[in-house]
Amino acid sequence: MLKHWAEGARHGAFVFTSNVDGHFQAAGYDEARVLECHGTINFMQCGKPCGDAIWPSCSMINGIDIDALAAPSLPRCPHCGHLARPNFLLFDDGFWVETRSSAQWERLRIWLRTVQRPVVIELGAGTAVPSVRMFAESVRGPLIRVNLDESEVVGDGVGIRGTSLDVLSAIDAALARA
Ligand SMILES: [Zn+2]
Repeated sequence: MLKHWAEGARHGAFVFTSNVDGHFQAAGYDEARVLECHGTINFMQCGKPCGDAIWPSCSMINGIDIDALAAPSLPRCPHCGHLARPNFLLFDDGFWVETRSSAQWERLRIWLRTVQRPVVIELGAGTAVPSVRMFAESVRGPLIRVNLDESEVVGDGVGIRGTSLDVLSAIDAALARA
């Protein structure tokens, strides 16, 4: 539904997600319009790290079966031989290679300069790790906050209590009637 709405919007949409599963790209969203603020399971990096290199972790590269979440052999950095790790941010993680996320931030900043007053649709973002909420509230535009427990909005916007699927389905039905 979100992708369908975005396709009808003049400037399209930009995805900001703390999910690391790459499901937006798998659903057909343009890779150049996705920011994964906590990184992605679809790339690997050196655990040390010995540099800024990241490499795709798809299929059985580096010995990890992503679909089965199994590693018959431990993945190694192709540059130094140290243990490799997924390229996403853990708690108290001082070793995450941020280059990919930084490039995504740059593309988002450029896109935000082209739009006047983007509507932000925030789905199920928690307050414990508020990365998504902080970004959503930083954008100068109306905020639609969809959340089961914490849907309150201060300022320009509306909070809707419910699951993302239920609320988006209701909005989609209302748009179809309009
Ligand atoms: Zn290395």
